[in-house]
Amino acid sequence: MDLKVPYAEKDQAEALGARWEASRRCWYVPDGVDLLPFRRWFPEQDPGLPGLNLRSLETYVVTATHRCWRCQQDTVVAGFLMAPGFEDFSVWQDDPEGQGHWGGGEGWRFAFHVDALPSPIAAQAIMRAPRYRRAFSQATRSAYWANHCPACEAQQSDSRLFEEAGGPFVPREDGDWSGHRAVRVKGAFAAAGSFGRAIDDATAIPGVRAGSAPSPSVAIAARPNADARGFSILSRLRRWLGWASSG
Ligand SMILES: [Zn+2]
Repeated sequence: MDLKVPYAEKDQAEALGARWEASRRCWYVPDGVDLLPFRRWFPEQDPGLPGLNLRSLETYVVTATHRCWRCQQDTVVAGFLMAPGFEDFSVWQDDPEGQGHWGGGEGWRFAFHVDALPSPIAAQAIMRAPRYRRAFSQATRSAYWANHCPACEAQQSDSRLFEEAGGPFVPREDGDWSGHRAVRVKGAFAAAGSFGRAIDDATAIPGVRAGSAPSPSVAIAARPNADARGFSILSRLRRWLGWASSG
């Protein structure tokens, strides 16, 4: 990740492990190094960066305990849970304009296979699960965000966490979410990634909507005639998320 380091603080950044890339005249954090100590130098990022296909006004960092497949130690893993009203961008083959569109996502969904995340959002997961960081896939030759074991550094696969039965972030047979913790994400969430199966009983996760006033997206979801208000809701979303209004 690139950093914005003032000249006066360059020694401090270097001491923490940042590296200087002379050709780009830019400080960066090498892959595999925890990002948390570098938070103060994260660049401001526009959540409307091209390529981000998920956005949500009400989102939670959910943490859970998960046994590492390699060393069998219990590790803390994190995932982003988007509330109903989140949107995802898709392009359909038969779309006459070929421009794609933002569509309302249904239900509560965990985002996963995340390959891009604005730094201020990533930081909120890293604070809860310090080994949530970027990993590099040799198979696809691309970087993406993944949980790692603090004891042996093994990567915990998103498929296992978010897709396979028994994973901490898939619908639970027993409805028991008492071992999970949710903290609401500050600011609008945006990411490039996929999302998983609907979590129908997400409000049972401790911390989800705990003692908070209904957020705008709750009000939207609760309104029976949401379609009639779709335009103004979208305009508001665009304004909040900093997208140029096209409606
Ligand atoms: Zn391990």
